[in-house]
Order: sequence, then structure tokens, then C-alpha cells
Amino acid sequence: MRALTFVPGKQGTLQVGEVPDPVRRQGDLLVHGLALGICGTDRELTAAEYGWPPPGGERMVIGHESLGRVLQSPDGSAFSPGDLVVGVVRRPDPVPCGACARGEFDMCRNGQYTERGIKGLNGYGSELWTVEAGYAVRLDPSLESVGMLVEPTSVVAKAWEQIDRIGSRSWFKPHRLLVTGGGPIGLLAALLGRQRGLEVHVLDRSPVGELKSTLVHDLGGIFHSGSTLPDFGDDKPDIIIECTGVGELVMESMTSTSAVGMVCLTGLAPGGRTHRVDAGVINRDIVLENDVIFGTVNANLRHYRDAAAALAKADAEWLERLITRRVPLERALEAFERGKDVKVVIDLTADQFSS
Ligand SMILES: [Zn+2]
Repeated sequence: MRALTFVPGKQGTLQVGEVPDPVRRQGDLLVHGLALGICGTDRELTAAEYGWPPPGGERMVIGHESLGRVLQSPDGSAFSPGDLVVGVVRRPDPVPCGACARGEFDMCRNGQYTERGIKGLNGYGSELWTVEAGYAVRLDPSLESVGMLVEPTSVVAKAWEQIDRIGSRSWFKPHRLLVTGGGPIGLLAALLGRQRGLEVHVLDRSPVGELKSTLVHDLGGIFHSGSTLPDFGDDKPDIIIECTGVGELVMESMTSTSAVGMVCLTGLAPGGRTHRVDAGVINRDIVLENDVIFGTVNANLRHYRDAAAALAKADAEWLERLITRRVPLERALEAFERGKDVKVVIDLTADQFSS
């Protein structure tokens, strides 16, 4: 079979090539790969910023935004051939820590977890892949062309779960949400915000009239073009979901929520940049408003199921528009070129019998 592989830690090693078919172990599903979403993490992996190969090899199959169709399933499993599925990315650490022991491996405490396509395990960027039945999630058949959005949505579903849990410490009935960053994570966070009936604002640098603004508009949200937070006057957002990792926006967000507000940080700021901030002002704002600033990353099985349910009830045409480019596996390297895309997807089924 063909797979998209790279050598972690070495730039310029990404290639499409023949690799041995995966070996299906007891309890595994054998899956025909349909598509693979590409995100910033994949670009960072191929730029050798991080990434760890499976033990005993140096090359690894890349890809964690999976979508496939079950070819073989274990007897008595909840899956059948033909089911549309995605695979969970992370696996618990082997110790395991208390969180991993309870299925909360997205909250791993010792960092020894592994991740498909990122850390110690082959990813999902191949024509065939296997996944333990316990780490697969079945999708509604209506998600056949957009199901690779489940993984990024799972990250957002976890963020919303955390917001709910933190909100439950007191009476909390949010009405206004601000999302900073109109990439896939930001737009999916906005989608889930709308599904919860919130007034949704999205800030992004792209101009009004281009795709991101119309996507926000068609969601029933309000788009703000710019690189600083909109002025909400006295009616500040109850929740800010920060998806840019831009230091200035991160700092500005911390003093820009309503009382008992929440800032959920999902973006990653590059290190080495300094910003002059008044720590006293930030401290006073957080204390006097009972604010919470928290970070979130990754997702467990529960969040994948929440994500699959959220996408199944979303407007299919809107989801389709998030995918701005589809490239066949043959030309997979083009998917890693940075452009004005929202989401680039590799079609694992195209040209399947050409080589
Ligand atoms: Zn752990």
C-alpha cells in the first residue's frame, strides 16, 4: 500500500511511497483510508520541530486527522464492515498516570502518552490502517466527505466541556462568545458556540467579504476583521476562546472578559517574543472578576463522540466549505504548502489503482 511518511527530526523527508500493509492485531479494525486532514502540527512535524518515530524505525506514517471505512472488524465488536470511522490520536501512557488510568488521557500527567502520527505510533496517512476498536469512533454516514474534521472538532468539544465544568462552579449563563482566529479550530469553536445558542463573534486578520467572514456570517455569527480585540464597551464577552497563539491577543484577552469570565487558550505562541504588560492590571482583573484563564489541548474518546455528534447536526454544506483544497495522495506534498486555505485534505482514494 501507499503511505505518506517522514523521518521525525529531519526536514525534507516527507514522501509518498510503498510500505508494508498494516498487520491487524486481535481487537483491531482494518480500515480503508478515505481522507486525511492536514494541520499546523503536521507542518511543524515535517519541519522537524518535533516528532518521535515508532520504536525500532526512523520513518513514520504521518497524519492524525483521519477518516476511513471499516474493511474488517473483530467478531462481537460494535463495528461492521462499511462503517465510517475516525481513529483517536492519543493513547494512554504505559504507567499509567491517574488520568490515563481513568480514560482521561488527554489530561496525561507524566507526558509518556503516545500519539498516532506524532509521537511513537504510525499515523493515519495511508491507504490502509488499523485501529483498536476501543479507539475508533463511528460517524454518521452523512459525514462521508467531511469526517476528517472530527479530530479538530474533538479538540474544540473538549474545550467546551471544560468551559461547562469550570462554569458550573457558580451560576454561569454566558451569552456572548468571542473567538480569536478564524482557522479551522476557531471556526469549529464558533460552530459549537452557535449550537449552544450563544452570540458568536470571530476575530481574524482576513478581510470582510472573503471566505472566513462569509463562513462566520452564514453561521449567524459576527465577523471582525483586524488584529486587535473588538471594543465591546461594557458588554464584554463571557467567554473568549483564543485560537491564534499571538502573544498580544493572549494578554489582551485576559482583561477583556465580563465578570466571572473565562479565557480558553487553545493556540500555541512561539517562544522568544516579549510583550510589555502590566502584570498588576491583569492580576487585579482576574481576581476582582473571579475570572478563569485555562489552557486545553487534545481530546479523549468522549470528546470524539461529542465532536461526531456536533458535526452530524451541523449544516453539511457549511462544513464542506471549510475544506478549501483536496489533493490526491500522489501529490500529497502540495497539501503542506502554506496558502490561504482553511483546511487542506489529502484524498487517500484518488489514483488508487494507477501505480
Ligand atoms: Zn498519563
